[in-house]
Amino acid sequence: MIFLANLRQPLSGNKLNFISQQEADIHWMKVALSLANKAQMQGEVPVGALIVQDNVLIAQGFNCPIATQDPTSHAEIQAIRNAALIQNNYRLKASTLYVTLEPCAMCAGAIVQARIKRVVFGASDTKAGAAGSVFNVLQHPMLNHRVELTTAVLKEDCAKILVDFFKRRRKQLAAS
Ligand SMILES: [Zn+2]
Repeated sequence: MIFLANLRQPLSGNKLNFISQQEADIHWMKVALSLANKAQMQGEVPVGALIVQDNVLIAQGFNCPIATQDPTSHAEIQAIRNAALIQNNYRLKASTLYVTLEPCAMCAGAIVQARIKRVVFGASDTKAGAAGSVFNVLQHPMLNHRVELTTAVLKEDCAKILVDFFKRRRKQLAAS
């Protein structure tokens, strides 16, 4: 829980320079993967998210519904809450959200509510993804806010951390 509180502090705010959007996306997805790893170390399903504005890291989050006893504590929700607090603004219009796993319907709804400009995700979620796999909440024609979407950035790494996690968990359950 101490670590969660630390995530709510403003970050150093250094602006990074990249030669291309692709290079920037890979850099930030690696950071999101390190956050997924933090979730894993706490026994949570490893998903990490962060919010960037103009190549400055604004806020981070990782999946933590068990630790917080809160089913809404997905990585994206944590990152959005932290960003809004740090920015003193419930709208995050100029922001890009990076997340290792395709957002679910709840998180996609929150992303639309926050008016986030762009979402970049790694692995697709064919069972619950709401950015094209099962639903497309982020770009629904009936909604008045549509999110720019970039998919499959470091998708193998983002999928592997989840697959390995569930494999280990099944093994632990079988052994107990
Ligand atoms: Zn979610």
